[in-house]
Amino acid sequence: LLSPDGAVASTIFAEMTALAARTGAINLGQGFPDEDGPSEVLDAAREAIAGGANQYAPGIGIAPLREAIADHQSRFYGIALDPDTEVVVTTGATEALASALLALVDGPEDEVVVFEPYYDSYAACVALSGATLRTVPLRAPDFQPDLDVLADVVNERTRVILVNNPHNPTGAVFDRAVLEEVVRLAHARDAIVVTDEVYEHLTFDGPHVPVASLPGARERTLTISSGGKTFRTTGWKIGWITGPAELLTAVVTVKQFLTYTSGSPFQPAIAAGLRLPDAFFDGIAQDMRRKRDVLGAGLRAAGFEVFEPRGSYFTVADAAPLGATDAQAFCRGELVERAGVVAIPITAFVTPGRRSEYATLVRFAACKRVEVLEEAAARLASLS
Ligand code: PMP
Ligand code: GLN
Repeated sequence: LLSPDGAVASTIFAEMTALAARTGAINLGQGFPDEDGPSEVLDAAREAIAGGANQYAPGIGIAPLREAIADHQSRFYGIALDPDTEVVVTTGATEALASALLALVDGPEDEVVVFEPYYDSYAACVALSGATLRTVPLRAPDFQPDLDVLADVVNERTRVILVNNPHNPTGAVFDRAVLEEVVRLAHARDAIVVTDEVYEHLTFDGPHVPVASLPGARERTLTISSGGKTFRTTGWKIGWITGPAELLTAVVTVKQFLTYTSGSPFQPAIAAGLRLPDAFFDGIAQDMRRKRDVLGAGLRAAGFEVFEPRGSYFTVADAAPLGATDAQAFCRGELVERAGVVAIPITAFVTPGRRSEYATLVRFAACKRVEVLEEAAARLASLS
């Protein structure tokens, strides 16, 4: 049910991280930072544990975190939210996505539209919900969707348009016209927009634009994010979902039976993070941009064609100029054996019927220390 071709037992991330561990290769596969996040956030979690925040938190999250999320949306995007009815804390963005899809769709007549390639849990959650997955391809070099194709794929059966922006795995940041078209189509078809904005603070060419901030979007948009990428705490799994109260009631109905509640001591710590000064948020975007540049230069020097990302942890590169014809074989063979670097073939993020279109593309994670990226660049040079 959960694997497009019925063959994969574990996720591509687990497989590639195990491959890196087994071979001692540099792991540019699974997207997680190799440095701790801000001490204010880490210290707040330690203090919360010492202070006894070790039992179940309320199902929708502790009030100080819901207030911090509402203040964050207002401070960065001008979106006003009621922290009691329009904000729900989840176990990572992953649970928010699962709860939203399970709440909003029901059976094969309901369609969920996603851009492809897509983060792997999207197709799995759509399968769990029993709905039908419809995809709109994103193509190199800029990975923006064709708006005519989008308008064609969205139809009267569409219940949800799921938009991940900035986008994993391509690093695309969608043009405003794309987001506006999503909102227009959602109105036309009476669909709900669900957005995954976990890389909201990792944009390289200006501030992030949430779909919910666009005219007419708010009443039909559920916005998902998480503390993992912003505060380099991917293992804490504190996420959130914000939007209209009636929609969130449906989401909470599902969420309470998935995990009920999440990470009590991490909740006040993420609240502290969300209240950090602007300089912190500007700093992480600049830092990630520098990492992108170091990785991109290394990939270009090694002979890859690089598609410069505008956001996220990731850079997509084409291995065809190196003679590769199948990125899956390349990532499991030459890349790890000759260069000692692990990365992920983009085919892991596409439906089986479209794999040939992405056959030679590879996703590299840039969220590592600069010296690690430089070492990876030096190793990649051995490929050319
Ligand atoms: N959405 C996207 C696009 C991601 O890249 C990830 C991976 N970190 C997630 C969701 C999952 O986020 P979380 O760890 O907060 O569940
Ligand atoms: N989001 C991270 C990635 O895309 C890892 C997620 C995971 O391990 N499931 O690499």
